[in-house]
Amino acid sequence: MNKSLFAIAALALLTTSSVVVAQDKKQVTTGPAGNELMSPGMSEFYKPVPPVVVPGTDLAGGGFTAPSDAIILFDGKDLSAWESVSGGPAEWNVHDGVVTVDKKKGDIQTKQKFTDYQLHIEWQVPENITGESQARGNSGVFMQGMYEIQILDCYNNTTYTNGMTGSVYKQSRPLVNAMRKPGEWNVYDIIYTAPTFKEDGSYRTWPTVTVIQNGVLLQNHTTILGTTEYIGFPQVKAHGAGPILLQSHGDPSEPISFRNIWIREL
Ligand code: MG
Repeated sequence: MNKSLFAIAALALLTTSSVVVAQDKKQVTTGPAGNELMSPGMSEFYKPVPPVVVPGTDLAGGGFTAPSDAIILFDGKDLSAWESVSGGPAEWNVHDGVVTVDKKKGDIQTKQKFTDYQLHIEWQVPENITGESQARGNSGVFMQGMYEIQILDCYNNTTYTNGMTGSVYKQSRPLVNAMRKPGEWNVYDIIYTAPTFKEDGSYRTWPTVTVIQNGVLLQNHTTILGTTEYIGFPQVKAHGAGPILLQSHGDPSEPISFRNIWIREL
């Protein structure tokens, strides 16, 4: 490369770098308040659509109970391990060995807080479910009360891909769609590694999550970018150990149910 070409290339590189710095600065100074200028559709993506994979059936016809070292979060009897996020006891409807969301009672979370773990949770969309897109069996399970793994009836139901079942909500679409049809039980096995933080509150190491639904991989050690916001960018907020939180979503469809919830601390 001759001298003048080298100078041009160097100048171009310098200019590019300064633009990046300027953009970085803009993002930092904008912060959470910047999301006020955004609408929900700005963070919703429709393609490519994860392919449908039909999960295998359980040979025994009944799943399995918690292993010996697990902490039981719900065994079908009561919600003593849970509380309402807005305060007081968890008051969702426990019946027939399952717990059904009560949309009037709001989100619930575990009393105990966790850091790194393996979580097992089973959920069922009612057979008579109605609605479409995000208004069809919407719930969610939040890692450390901060990061939502979406729960939704995505059986023959189209929505934005980064809001599908098993998405890191509005961040990372699932690899595939492994839904069982309404009335059947879906199983999530989730492996979560908590973030660590620098003194300034930014991530030193990022949170990661692996999600398996009905024996099929949806998230493969996916990096979580921050909080799972309905509107705007993920936010990074320093935190310590946190609860498992289950979402009582405001959509008008019939409420979903959960059963057999246990966790193994890692
Ligand atoms: Mg949700």
